[in-house]
Amino acid sequence: MTAPQPRRKPKVVVPTTVQLGVSSRRMLLRGTIGSCPVCGNRHIFSRWFSMVERCPRCSLHFERVEGHWIGAIGVNTVVITAAMLLLLMAVTFVLFPDPIPQVMIAVELAIAGFGPLLFFPASRTLWSAIDLLMRPLNFGEVDPRFVLVDPDRDRAPKRS
Ligand SMILES: [Zn+2]
Repeated sequence: MTAPQPRRKPKVVVPTTVQLGVSSRRMLLRGTIGSCPVCGNRHIFSRWFSMVERCPRCSLHFERVEGHWIGAIGVNTVVITAAMLLLLMAVTFVLFPDPIPQVMIAVELAIAGFGPLLFFPASRTLWSAIDLLMRPLNFGEVDPRFVLVDPDRDRAPKRS
């Protein structure tokens, strides 16, 4: 038999919305318009395709783990595909039973070609918001002034 292991206190996990005091809806909205999901700062892109490493206001490190931006590619693909599908369904619904006009194919191809480029910045910030909602912030990921609840920091002092 092995000796009983000492009991470890389970780590308290606090959702990001509680950590930051920001609702999930607000974080997703900030992400959708290309802002920092933590503080809402809009100046996080130096050019259309180049994002700063850390938010200048709240110092959120956007690339939280290696391969983080694969999620942004996924978000971009899902949103653009959904937009194409919705447009196709709407046009089909309006014109039924007439066939879909040739210009519609050109519009769909234009969305497929330019949509991902136009949506690129928002796809990154939206993915960052989704990722933050799925994985709470760790110590040091963001300026402590933006963290309202941190169980490690806010632990009650020991009585002696
Ligand atoms: Zn920020």
